This record gives sequence, C-alpha cells and structure tokens, in this order.
Amino acid sequence: MEPETAHAVLTVDLAAIVANWRTLKARHPSGDVAAVVKADAYGLGARPVAAALHNAGCRSFVVAWLEEALAIRDALPGAMIAVLGGLIPGTETAFGVHGLTPVLCSLDEIDRWQNRGEAILHIDTGMSRLGLPPSELAALAADRKRLDGMAIRYAMSHLVASEVPGDPINQLQRQRVAAARAMLPPWKFSLANSSGIFLGPDFASDLARPGAALYGLNPTPGQPNPMHGVVRLMVRVLTVRDIPAGATVGYNATWKAARPTRIATAALGYADGYHRSLSNRASACFDGTPVPLVGRVSMDLTTFDVTDHPGVQPGGWLEVLGPHLSPDDLAAAAGTNGYEVLTSLGRRFQRVYRTA
Ligand SMILES: *Cc1c(COP(=O)(O)O)cnc(C)c1O
Repeated sequence: MEPETAHAVLTVDLAAIVANWRTLKARHPSGDVAAVVKADAYGLGARPVAAALHNAGCRSFVVAWLEEALAIRDALPGAMIAVLGGLIPGTETAFGVHGLTPVLCSLDEIDRWQNRGEAILHIDTGMSRLGLPPSELAALAADRKRLDGMAIRYAMSHLVASEVPGDPINQLQRQRVAAARAMLPPWKFSLANSSGIFLGPDFASDLARPGAALYGLNPTPGQPNPMHGVVRLMVRVLTVRDIPAGATVGYNATWKAARPTRIATAALGYADGYHRSLSNRASACFDGTPVPLVGRVSMDLTTFDVTDHPGVQPGGWLEVLGPHLSPDDLAAAAGTNGYEVLTSLGRRFQRVYRTA
C-alpha cells in the first residue's frame, strides 16, 4: 500500500480537489470561481494542485506573493494569477514581464501601476489589513483621473467572519461593498472566500476566491462538510513496547500508565507540523479506530497507547489524517483551525499525488 522505504506518506488527492472546485462552481452560479493556491496551496503543493485545476478548466488563481506567482506562472498558460500582497515598490516590472495581476491595496500602489496593465483593486470593508481604507476610497472617487490608464479586472473585498453566518458583520460588509461600488465605475466584483460561497446569493459576485474548501476543510462549521477530504497522512510505527503500570511516557513525564500498557512510537513530530499542543489530546487511527496520543509530541516522534490494538506492529502504519480523521478534527484537538494544520504539514513526508 505505502512506499516501502518511507517513514511517512502524505497522499494528496488531486481528483478530489478538482471535484471540490466543481462543487464550488455549482454553488456560485453568479460568476467564476478562482482557486486560491497561496502558501503552496495550503501546504499541499501549489504546482501540482494548480496544474490539475488548470487542466479542469480553472483560469483564475490567487497567491499571496510575487514569488509564489512566479513559481507557478509557466504551468498555467493563459490564466490570471492574482497576487494578494499588493505591489511592493520595485516589483512593478516583474509583474508586467510575467503577466501577473497585482491586487492593488492603496492609492500609492494605484499610482505606481498607472498604464501598466490589468489589476485588481482591493477595498477594505472591515479587515483593516490590506485594501483601500474608506478615506482612500473617497479620495479615489473624488479624483477619477487617477483611474485613467487603469485596467481594473475586478474590485474585491474580503469577508471577516463568513464561517459564522449569523455574525452581523457579514451584512455590514455587504452594505459597505454596495456603497463602495456605487462610488466607482461599474467594475466586476470579487467577494466570497470558501465560507462566503455558502452564505447565499447576497454574497455572490463575479468571482469567488475559495481556498480552504478546495482542500477539504469544512466551509460550514457545525454542519455536515459538503467537500471531499483530499489528504491522507500515514506514518510508520517504529517500535512497540510494553510498559508497567506507573511508568511514564515522553518528555517531562506528562503521562503515566495507569495499567500495563503497550506504547507504539510513531515517525512523526512537531517538526512535521504535528503540533506540540496535541500532546495528550489527539488520536491517530489504526484500522479505522482511534488510538490515543499519550505524552508529549516531540520533534520527530509521537507515542500512542495501543494496548487495545494488538494488530499494531513495528513497520506498520497509523493514519494521522485521512478518511477517519480530518484536518478540522486535528485542528480542534490542537486548538487551532484546519488552515493551520494544512499549512503546517512538514517537508519530510514522501508525497504522493493521486489523479484518479
Ligand atoms: C486566503 C484568502 C482567500 C481564501 O480564503 P478561504 O477561507 O481559504 O477560502 C480569499 N481571499 C483572500 C483575500 C484571502 O486572503
């Protein structure tokens, strides 16, 4: 099943990512659906992920940084690659030469992009990070000459709390978007991220920008996940040993055996993105049933109580993420979100890309 020499295997199901993109397209009939592939496609591999989506017909991609765009440009002929981080001074020529689309975030960036080609204009409606703040939006609306020579492909804004449908800030942002659009030329607009697509037609636009849902994270927390899982992480069992009642496991002896116990040591640690905050809190799966993590997660190793699982043997495999254990599940145990679980996944795993 798993490559024979690997200590850990991360399988990424590209076909499931494509299926998720098609699901999102069906949920967003008002417009197109881009693929957000920033942070190496949330840790899963920007080049293979973006190429698979491009093959399936996706022509709009979103990254955070110029370097991330350059790393995938040649794999995505004819596609828009938008760079969320904006136009860092000195990068204007590189954007132009490589046919990349800056997401302009300020009046200064607008001025530096004059007569240089297509751009996206980011308008801040509540995040207060990037995007034109209300004062700069008003200045722009009052001085439309500044927009001469601007080819704005989309204006966009980003939702603050789209995964919480009842949060009143969603409606507030919708109103702010409408007000901003009334001040500007009738540009196309881009609004929803993954969860925003599931907020319904009020949040539909000409271009949705999902990331998380493509990678199988649940865009509707608390409700059944409409997306397919796309990752499986299997790690090798190195040793299995019997310890007596009273023996301790791991650094700082944070776990003590209450009964004679079988401990499996697995080839996985916090250097692989298996967060130390999972210590004594998470489980792995053997044959579809949970085996509790006991003791501290260390850099390369993690220990599990397999007393009730005689099938666990050295050289065997434990599922750390997969059909029985989603990134959202692991995130809940770690006290974080699925985004951080995926983007933390380490570089030491053997990676396998499934296309069917
Ligand atoms: C990361 C990001 C997205 C994608 O968000 P998801 O919640 O992963 O779908 C969309 N738009 C912007 C501006 C982002 O920074």
